[in-house]
Amino acid sequence: MPLNQKQTEELRGLIDQRREALLAELREDAARVREQPYSEHAGSAPDTGDESVATLIADLEQADVTRDLDEFRSLESAKSRIAGGEYGTCNDCGGDIGFARLKATPSALRCIDCQERYEKTYGGEPKPSL
Ligand SMILES: [Zn+2]
Repeated sequence: MPLNQKQTEELRGLIDQRREALLAELREDAARVREQPYSEHAGSAPDTGDESVATLIADLEQADVTRDLDEFRSLESAKSRIAGGEYGTCNDCGGDIGFARLKATPSALRCIDCQERYEKTYGGEPKPSL
């Protein structure tokens, strides 16, 4: 079954919550990166615009936080799929991913069957595709 409006709203809320929590973690990581001698960045004033997120990500690419960054990007991607009305549709087979799976993994790109096949084919952790 495709997601109804209420389910989509609930998942959007989960994504926003997780995104905020992750951003807070990443900001702490970025602050640590900036304290390191090789960093060129002085402590710039924090604001909430897109530009500061871009700066944040640039800082973090120097640091060993790839997993969190990947998760952050997959959440951003989920948000844009919601905006584009594509959210909840499996990337591989075009079927419905399903509410229960999305609730557990709001950034999921594939239904369970396709995800298992993907992991068998490529092994290891799935990378979000952007
Ligand atoms: Zn599928």
